[in-house]
Amino acid sequence: MEDCIFCKIIESKIPCSKIYENEQVLAFLDINPAAPGHTLVVPKKHSMNITDIDFNTLGQCIGAIKNLAPKIMKAVNATGFNIGMNNFKSSGQAVMHSHFHIIPRKENDGLMLPRQGKYKEGEIEEIKNKIIKELD
Ligand SMILES: [Zn+2]
Repeated sequence: MEDCIFCKIIESKIPCSKIYENEQVLAFLDINPAAPGHTLVVPKKHSMNITDIDFNTLGQCIGAIKNLAPKIMKAVNATGFNIGMNNFKSSGQAVMHSHFHIIPRKENDGLMLPRQGKYKEGEIEEIKNKIIKELD
């Protein structure tokens, strides 16, 4: 896709620190890492995010993540990892080409996950019902 920075990386028009590539997927180091070894797994076929990615491409990405994540963890002497995907701008999606983050973790590394809030009285039931209605 024109003007898509990840498509340009896939087409080798922009360099990247590639760690893995197959026919469907490219994985490279994030230039602004949350932790050393922070990797982006990117499908070569352009989609915006999980709402429009096709199942086969999604499966290829998940398969690559499963293979890569434990090896990245070992390479950077981490003891865990987070897998993440931001969808739409409000979630922090900065590049509108589907991509997954593999973020190596260590005990007490200071990385913060979003806060864990609390529901108000009756709110969890109300929200559950709204989501189930959307699934119909
Ligand atoms: Zn793209």
